[in-house]
Amino acid sequence: MTRAPQPPPAVHWITERLEAAGYETWTVGGAVRDALLGLHPGDWDLATRAHPQDVRRIFRRTVPIGIDHGTVGVAGPDGVLYEVTTFRRDVETFGRRAVVEFAEQIEDDLARRDFTINAVAWHAVRGELRDPFGGAADLEAAIVRTVGDPATRFAEDFLRVLRALRFAGHFRFSVEPHTWRALCDAVEHLSVLSAERVRDELMKVLGAAARPSAALALYGAAGALGALFPELEATVGVPRPANSAADVWGHAVLSADAVPPWRAFLRLAAVLAGIGVAEAVRRGIPARDAGVFAARRSVELMTRLRFANTEIRRMSDLLAHVYDAPAAGADAAAYRRWLSRAGPGRLNDLTRLWVAQVRAEAPERRTPEPARRWREARRVLRTNPPLHTGNLAIGGHDLIALGLSPGPRFSEILAALLERVLDEPGINTRERLLELVRSEYMPGSVG
Ligand code: ATP
Ligand code: MG
Repeated sequence: MTRAPQPPPAVHWITERLEAAGYETWTVGGAVRDALLGLHPGDWDLATRAHPQDVRRIFRRTVPIGIDHGTVGVAGPDGVLYEVTTFRRDVETFGRRAVVEFAEQIEDDLARRDFTINAVAWHAVRGELRDPFGGAADLEAAIVRTVGDPATRFAEDFLRVLRALRFAGHFRFSVEPHTWRALCDAVEHLSVLSAERVRDELMKVLGAAARPSAALALYGAAGALGALFPELEATVGVPRPANSAADVWGHAVLSADAVPPWRAFLRLAAVLAGIGVAEAVRRGIPARDAGVFAARRSVELMTRLRFANTEIRRMSDLLAHVYDAPAAGADAAAYRRWLSRAGPGRLNDLTRLWVAQVRAEAPERRTPEPARRWREARRVLRTNPPLHTGNLAIGGHDLIALGLSPGPRFSEILAALLERVLDEPGINTRERLLELVRSEYMPGSVG
């Protein structure tokens, strides 16, 4: 049974004010759908016959969010900004941007929405459902179905293909057979979508509170995985080096499930890590080098999807060190060398990933190995070991004072000193390091 939506009092208040001024007003979209499902609804959006200038006249505190497409933000008495959008109707639906015009009736507005489950309106004051496309019944039957002819609706906006897969995965709904057939046919056109829209959709899949594996499996089943992310498709069916039932892809998406939903970026890391594993398997390269490939491919994929450079960098730095960490029980020098490469700031994110990867293997198993590794790494960090050349007891000016001339050789010498110090932090004193430089890098100066 679906439940009656209960919008917050501010939505009543906005609706009442608009209706008192003579403008029919409804709540629409994802919040109505989620409320009918008995889930915690997200943003409550309103649709109204009032035009943007009317809305701005009626309410004191408004924000012109998207006046061109009829959206005004209205601050409710609760301080929350609600999006109030004028009823719209599509007049020309193909091409880069649909041409819309304002409409008189809620039914027109609902007709341009993508799926029946997203095309239900609820009247906050009258407590009335307006559901011309049978959305409530589809919610009850757990079905994703387009409003109108599926092939036409997908061709109008191919992003709807990905939205259908996301909603079906998120709610564990099935896709109605005609919709599914048209969806699979539309997959070959996904390349027309802008990189930004594909990226945002992917991050919505990964950021959903539910397990992203369901939607990602549907991406695979529909062919969208191969169309948009061939490097991920290439991990499907690749056996994992460790004895495990799942293939590389299956393990990667289950790992993403095991990362908390508010860490969508780490969920993406869990998925991308599989690319490196599959590539290492294919090339017969040791598993500990898989991170290098994962890092390289993540840069390509994320660049293609126009992620910010800082995020691309953060991802590749993380992935490069997922698989090369010491095994629990390793000595402190092994940890220092790894922490020096990976950067101590990445330990917590990497531990979350390792934990997720173990959970994906066996959900019921506790995670002693990653937890132990984390404790051991923390213990080493508490000794404040020198981890980069800036922590060395001598620097470039000391080399100059010794009579060496500045140049690229300086960083080679400092890097070599760091290697020694990582093995043996006790030698990180001025005297010992100067002595090392003299004896090993200044031939003829000693003895
Ligand atoms: P969520 O916010 O949980 O992802 P939602 O249904 O609220 O789901 P939004 O992207 O916020 O999705 O869009 C709000 C509403 O606008 C949808 O419920 C749907 O009715 C309509 N809509 C959004 N994108 C499209 C689209 N590409 N084609 C047709 N209608 C759409
Ligand atoms: Mg929404």
